[in-house]
Amino acid sequence: MKIKTVGVVGAGTMGSGISNAIASCGYKVLLYDIGEKQLQRGLLQIEKFMDKGIQRGKISEKQKVDSLENIYITTNFEDLKEADFVIEAVVEDIKVKKNVFSRLDDLLHEEAIIATNTSSMSITEIAEATKRQDRVVGMHFFNPAQIMKLVEVVRGFKTSDETVEAVRDFSVQLNKEPIVVNKDIPGFIVNRILIPQFIEAIKLLEEGVASAEDIDKAVMLGLNYPMGPFALQDYGGVDISYYVMNYFKEEFNDNRFAPPLLLKQLMRAGRLGTKVGAGFYDYNNQRDDIKI
Ligand code: NAD
Repeated sequence: MKIKTVGVVGAGTMGSGISNAIASCGYKVLLYDIGEKQLQRGLLQIEKFMDKGIQRGKISEKQKVDSLENIYITTNFEDLKEADFVIEAVVEDIKVKKNVFSRLDDLLHEEAIIATNTSSMSITEIAEATKRQDRVVGMHFFNPAQIMKLVEVVRGFKTSDETVEAVRDFSVQLNKEPIVVNKDIPGFIVNRILIPQFIEAIKLLEEGVASAEDIDKAVMLGLNYPMGPFALQDYGGVDISYYVMNYFKEEFNDNRFAPPLLLKQLMRAGRLGTKVGAGFYDYNNQRDDIKI
């Protein structure tokens, strides 16, 4: 099947970045969210991202205009009907995702593939909400989706080889480096490795072993990571870490994955990371460490 039009459901951090990455490769993108406000915020993020790219000489003004022209925003779910391929990037909540998949299944033509950008959740369970389980797959982008090369292509229990191949090919068309995850396990590869690191980093902070800035520095300089665990969680969303830890705890039936108290406190305080101006760090006040 030739992919011409791509639907993206959810215009948040990931949905906007994914739309931008796909539109800049010449595909038409239908970007859907539940409200105009969310769509406008998503578009603004895309524009800001490309403006930075222009300032740094990475893209031209024309490339920005062309990309934006390929993105059609809508709050009308029916508009997704013409898509050959849809990527879901809504909140990390299995009920919400299943509801989106069931509605997409009713709406889209038979051949269409529906992919989820979930960070952790079971592709098989999400696929159960549809009658096309062979054409449901994980397509896990990383943040920022415009730049990060990796795509984890995750096979659900009933995902067909053709679907896996189609998503792999599409990822290559987007200038990404796909890898296939052959078992539908929580967190796939990267988050299976990363989430325990986040938990240990938060515990070190709670134990007063070092400041958030020093723990970030230790990881960056000691492991040669571009970002430390606190800056990275703020960038990806503190809420995402929290939901994924809870999901791991339930799925693995293991309390070691339970979100540490400090993460719960950040959630309760609405400190969800850079998207709201504060998380582990306060970006309005010169990145001070959180007081614990
Ligand atoms: P986000 O909170 O920034 O955005 C979620 C968007 O989904 C919001 O705009 C919200 O309005 C919209 N939404 C909620 N319910 C909806 C519905 N029923 N229909 C349409 N839109 C709906 O979240 P995010 O960080 O973009 O994460 C989205 C998904 O991508 C999650 O599954 C997350 O685990 C995954 N993910 C996140 C990252 C990251 O670093 N943030 C990386 C990879 C994958």
